[in-house]
Amino acid sequence: MSVDSGLPAFRGSDGLWTALLPEGMSEREVGSLTQGDCFVIRPEQAWTFYGHALDACRHATPHDGYRLIRAWAADKRHGAFAYTSNVDGQFQTAGFPDDRVVECHGTIHSLQCTVPCTQSLWHTGRVSREAGDALPACIHCGALARPNFLMFSDVDWVPVRTATQQANLRKWRADIERPVVLEIGAGLAVPSIRLFAETFGAPLIRINLEDERVDRVTDVGIRGTALAVLREIDAALTAGARLVETIS
Ligand SMILES: [Zn+2]
Repeated sequence: MSVDSGLPAFRGSDGLWTALLPEGMSEREVGSLTQGDCFVIRPEQAWTFYGHALDACRHATPHDGYRLIRAWAADKRHGAFAYTSNVDGQFQTAGFPDDRVVECHGTIHSLQCTVPCTQSLWHTGRVSREAGDALPACIHCGALARPNFLMFSDVDWVPVRTATQQANLRKWRADIERPVVLEIGAGLAVPSIRLFAETFGAPLIRINLEDERVDRVTDVGIRGTALAVLREIDAALTAGARLVETIS
């Protein structure tokens, strides 16, 4: 979903690791920056790398697909709820209310303590990584701060924000009689989103560029990129609505 807003995908030859590589850092070095202890072991490199990513996320403009989904949801009694493993905050930037988003892997826009001395989080504010800047510090104890997203083997990730979002989702789901899941570009390597979509207990529309297969008769798979397929669906909905108007 974020790729069409110009943000790099997590993996692949033009993925995050290559596209956001700061000057002077080789791709081989970056692998260790996916591990939960990277901010403790290599604070300078970790902050240089993720500072770049933070800047890219701050400046990205959500593509039109977000608006289309919001428009479809606008005349539904319960609207839409976004469940994303993206940490870039694009759903909120696109106008999804905070209490209608689950970011299951956290967010790059909040900071937490690396110790962590507290479970509390705070907004990144104007944190940036220009050469010579001091590394961001915990506002409570002064230890190094880090973004509140989940990395691999990340025992120190503070999950409170995501837990609150999950509770919002459970409350919302309790009232819905006929939900539908629109799964967009969910990968198989870290299948959090696929698992969520398949176990939500609703018909599933799977949009995927590589593997759009679905197993249940209730589900539909569409091959393509997010924005292109969302536009096609929107055109079909508009044509369908016109047809209904004509018939009635
Ligand atoms: Zn602290």
